[in-house]
Amino acid sequence: MDIEDNRENPQKTTEEFTRLLRSNNLKVTQPRLRVLDTISTKTAAISQPELEKLLGADIDRVTLYRILASFEEKGILHKIFDLNGTATYAICSTKCSEHHHHDQHVHFICSVCNSVYCLNEISLPKINLPPRFSLHSIAINAVGLCENCQSQT
Ligand SMILES: [Zn+2]
Ligand SMILES: [Zn+2]
Ligand SMILES: [Zn+2]
Repeated sequence: MDIEDNRENPQKTTEEFTRLLRSNNLKVTQPRLRVLDTISTKTAAISQPELEKLLGADIDRVTLYRILASFEEKGILHKIFDLNGTATYAICSTKCSEHHHHDQHVHFICSVCNSVYCLNEISLPKINLPPRFSLHSIAINAVGLCENCQSQT
């Protein structure tokens, strides 16, 4: 399994984040730029409490909550639940748009440190539903040991 490719999305610049916000009709604000910058430097998906810790007192909880909700709605971030049911966020593929997420991939969750990784190269199976069922989303998680926890055993 090769999650190596997903690590450290080549450091995006403020200019790219500014463009991303503008193209989604979001006002370019310091807190929004800070959140994008912080998330993009992480290899694994990140939860709101973790983000709060990294951002410090600069952004209050309510603002952060609103930023994450609007990013999710606009197709900038997608939400993945870790093994404790805590929501974590990862940057979307460029194909996502408002109300249309196309993050059709499996997530890897480490059973020791609970880190969540996007496995972009594994696509989801086609699901045949019974009549009159409709599909809204599919979530498939692979659970195991991440690289860091592996090397500690
Ligand atoms: Zn998405
Ligand atoms: Zn781990
Ligand atoms: Zn993902």
